[in-house]
Amino acid sequence: ITIPALLQQAVERHGNREALVFPDAGIRMTYAELAQKADELAAGLLALGIVKGDRVGIWSPNRCEWVLTQFATARIGAILVTINPAYRLAELEYALNKTGCKVLIAAESFKSSNYLGMIHELVPELDHAAPGQLAAARLPALRHAVVMAADPGPGVLPFDALQQMGAGVETAALDALSAALAPEEAINIQFTSGTTGLPKGATLTHFNIVNNARFVTSRIKLTEADRLLIPVPLYHCFGMVMGVLGAVSKGAAMIFPGEAFEPAAVLDAAAAERATALYGVPTMFVAMLQELDQSPRDVSSLRTGIMAGAPCPIEIMRRVNRDMHMQEVTICYGMTETAPVSFQSFTSDPAEKRCTTVGRVHPHLEVKAVDGEGRTVPAGERGELLVRGYSVMQGYWDDPVATGEAIRDGWMRTGDLGTFDDQGFCSITGRVKDMIIRGGENIYPREIEEFLIRHPDIADAQVFGVPDEKFGEQVCAWVVPAAGASLEEEAVRSHCRGQIAHFKIPQHVRIVAELPMTVTGKPQKFRMRDEMVRQLQ
Ligand code: ATP
Ligand code: MG
Repeated sequence: ITIPALLQQAVERHGNREALVFPDAGIRMTYAELAQKADELAAGLLALGIVKGDRVGIWSPNRCEWVLTQFATARIGAILVTINPAYRLAELEYALNKTGCKVLIAAESFKSSNYLGMIHELVPELDHAAPGQLAAARLPALRHAVVMAADPGPGVLPFDALQQMGAGVETAALDALSAALAPEEAINIQFTSGTTGLPKGATLTHFNIVNNARFVTSRIKLTEADRLLIPVPLYHCFGMVMGVLGAVSKGAAMIFPGEAFEPAAVLDAAAAERATALYGVPTMFVAMLQELDQSPRDVSSLRTGIMAGAPCPIEIMRRVNRDMHMQEVTICYGMTETAPVSFQSFTSDPAEKRCTTVGRVHPHLEVKAVDGEGRTVPAGERGELLVRGYSVMQGYWDDPVATGEAIRDGWMRTGDLGTFDDQGFCSITGRVKDMIIRGGENIYPREIEEFLIRHPDIADAQVFGVPDEKFGEQVCAWVVPAAGASLEEEAVRSHCRGQIAHFKIPQHVRIVAELPMTVTGKPQKFRMRDEMVRQLQ
């Protein structure tokens, strides 16, 4: 099945049900309306000369236009390139050139960044180019810039005007184009989060993401009666696959609580919209729990949801179960390159398993944990996780070398360490790259993080290695105090003494108000490490 076929199915089954809600923008759309708007936009793109296989970049926070663009591009087989809203000029230029985008669709601005200004800086030719005749020195493939603004100035097409160009489109013409699409064809280039360094563009097919979206939402028993709250960014598969395509596959309503994550706004939307399901990365849940402590709200409509994207502390899972009423919340494990999810718990798994593991493998996937020589390790032992099956990406876009390193004989190397118990429940124990080797001793930061976070005065903790002359590496911890708590570096160390092995006790501790994060809300250890290394010099 393709993305347009998935949406068509939702229209046939749930046409009059609510599909899309942006409370801040006052937008509410049924499935029939969503499909209609997406068709107009698709026709607009055709009028611009976009055809199957062309790349269309989207650079925007979570907005209604994003979702419309997702379905409009898929309708005609154009490949949507999802660009991180935190990108700035150099990264935008890189992403657009790397993928050869013919059109860029962008927000006017986001937070304190003026996107329109940056586009003009990158493409000064816009000021005098005739429509479609753009020849930009720095972006040779680009033909059009579309911005979500009423009057974006010379050379730039307002998003609404593009939509208008397709008004009154004959569905039949689009149907013919959609019918010619094959599920195995590429439909997205999604950039990874950039947690460990430069983001990589994973090329994904309809088949990869539509099927994954269905399996993910089946495990949380999402139905057309559900109202799914999506605070995670759309540019990432958590938002666009597990969120949008997942909701569409079940006919559920999607609620987007704002352009950037604000814990108060999410909880307000949960209460006002009677949301039944909620997605988030662990740090978002940490922030929401804190906010809920300070100003309680009625979020009792919540039932289920997903915590994923980064290590999910057991304590946080327990509190989400209890304080946010999400008795059926599940953890997922996945990565952009596998469209994304490969492990997830069932809502029926015992709470203990749902909180302490990433659950069991998804249908139609093979997984194994291997040692450094590629041999499968026994149950209970740590190994690098490998995944094979329908969800593995085609490859990194225009990067056969990186693709060859990542995928061997169909097995995707995840770069993550995990263990299996004898029932097949998997626990993620960290990233291969993050393992600390101190004086020959392997240290897994995750273990120390789990320990630190149990301290009542600690809201979040990140542990990583820094170079050390004597030991090769030393353990370093960045710790965020709980709201209202005051915390001393020495107190963190003394909390560890006698509780964890001496070599695991962080030699360097820094108390911080917040952590460097990706837009997806993942702590970027490489940035913390760089800063510590500078400081220690
Ligand atoms: P980059 O590849 O650019 O460094 P990234 O790996 O964070 O960034 P994503 O594809 O968004 O980019 O995230 C996938 C990674 O997130 C996984 O490889 C894993 O390390 C981590 N992850 C996802 N879910 C979980 C989970 N439930 N528990 C622990 N880690 C998780
Ligand atoms: Mg990765």
